[in-house]
Amino acid sequence: MSQNLVYADLNCPFCYALSEQLSALEFADRVDWRLVEHAPDISVFNTTPESQAELASEVFTVRSRAPNIQVSLPPVRSDSRFANLCVIAAREIDEIKAHQLLRNLYRALWIDGKDLGSTAVIYDCIIAADLPGELSIEEHHESLLSQWQHEWEQGSYNLRIPVLASDDKRQLLGLPSQEHIIAFFGGEQPKSPTGQFDQCHGRDQQAIAFYGHDGVQSIWNVIGAVRDDYNVLLPATMAELKTMLNQPGESPDLILLNSINFWDEMLIDTAEIVHQAAESHTPVALIGDTISDNDEIRVYETGAADYLVKDRADGILQARIRTLLMLKRSHDLLERAARIDGLTQIYNRREFERSLEVEWLRGQRSKQPLSLIMLDVDHFKDYNDHYGHLSGDGCLQHVATAITDSVKRAQDMVCRFGGEEFVVLLPETGEEGVKVLAEKLRKTVAALEIEHQKSSAADHVTISLGVASLNPADGKNPHSLIQQADEALYRAKGNGRNCVSS
Ligand code: GH3
Ligand code: MG
Ligand code: MG
Repeated sequence: MSQNLVYADLNCPFCYALSEQLSALEFADRVDWRLVEHAPDISVFNTTPESQAELASEVFTVRSRAPNIQVSLPPVRSDSRFANLCVIAAREIDEIKAHQLLRNLYRALWIDGKDLGSTAVIYDCIIAADLPGELSIEEHHESLLSQWQHEWEQGSYNLRIPVLASDDKRQLLGLPSQEHIIAFFGGEQPKSPTGQFDQCHGRDQQAIAFYGHDGVQSIWNVIGAVRDDYNVLLPATMAELKTMLNQPGESPDLILLNSINFWDEMLIDTAEIVHQAAESHTPVALIGDTISDNDEIRVYETGAADYLVKDRADGILQARIRTLLMLKRSHDLLERAARIDGLTQIYNRREFERSLEVEWLRGQRSKQPLSLIMLDVDHFKDYNDHYGHLSGDGCLQHVATAITDSVKRAQDMVCRFGGEEFVVLLPETGEEGVKVLAEKLRKTVAALEIEHQKSSAADHVTISLGVASLNPADGKNPHSLIQQADEALYRAKGNGRNCVSS
């Protein structure tokens, strides 16, 4: 019989739901649970409005995808590291009881809303699993936890959880349906059942770049104090640091600068780096010896966020650095919330309008055409009326994902315009190109074969599309591009729906 693994996080409601499904189907004793943390800083940011909204939306999704499972919205997610270690320690005592402990912990959080960071809560779960109250955590338990984390991060799971994997290389990502779980344990590879909406996504560790004018030897203790919790970047030169800042996705979340012998030069460089880091709201701080108030004021005059005295206790350095990184994370979360539509996780209308203005100006300079597809789900009101709004939401998620997956060029942009309407903005694309893509999108959505008994256009969900193409250099304005695509969409609806009009 093949060996089955589950990678899961106590803080993920989809993992909790999988644990409950496996128990209900009596497969629980056929899997080896490996606990990971998909967002190591989750307990630090768990009170931000964005993370609260994300949590509520995940619980909501579990309710709609697995209605047989009891789940409540917990007040916050907690730091589950110690709970994970207790499960590992319990495995050495009794595998079955360790699994019971895992279930108790899951239920404490996802049914009773308890804080898994509390030793009292963990203790109650341990006792309820009939384990000895005092589990001793040892170094090899920590190593095993790190090893699982590493396996999951490096595995072919795209940083998604839960993962159900077998040693013959079959795997299911996200929360599978009961049918898919049964098929999986029967040795089959069910077609990936889930979209991106019934799984948690791993969040990268935040990165700190350290740069010292005369090397980083003198601040090695500071690096040592944070290196286990963050990704440490050590650019060799100022130029390398500046290049890092320009690389989206790889740029640091905090920059710490130091100089022993070149204080004045360092202040000039700091001002320059602060300026460059302003767009991404990356805080810049200096580290060094105790300095006079006047010198520290000069540091702040460069725009630096903080001055850290390098010989303070690790705990102090860690706390100061954590605060700076929280600033950055809060900014990133807010920025994301302002640009991304909550339901479909694609760009929202505001971001579309911003990009349209930018691309219009770019088109005026390049004299290249700019195209727009406006599309609308056919008879969607009837879909909602017949299948319910929750199914309607799921349908919009599938349509949004299908469209996004079909649009390949990096500069193309898919946005939710509102309700069941989406737009695709296509720079440097002319009339022919936009028609070809629109037809491809129409076919892709039809091929999803989402049943729609109440549609006059087909027996499945379809979309109507209007396309427009303008050359921004010809003098009209971005508004006319939207208007033309909208009028074309109206014609597509008039032509019987499930078609493209220009
Ligand atoms: P047509 O083929 O002409 O486009 O008809 P339609 O029914 O799709 O168009 P109509 O504008 O009458 O209805 C749009 C429906 O979309 C009504 C609204 O309840 C639904 N809708 C808008 N936003 C959402 C959403 O976020 N979730 C769900 N479930 N429904 C939504
Ligand atoms: Mg509409
Ligand atoms: Mg519609």
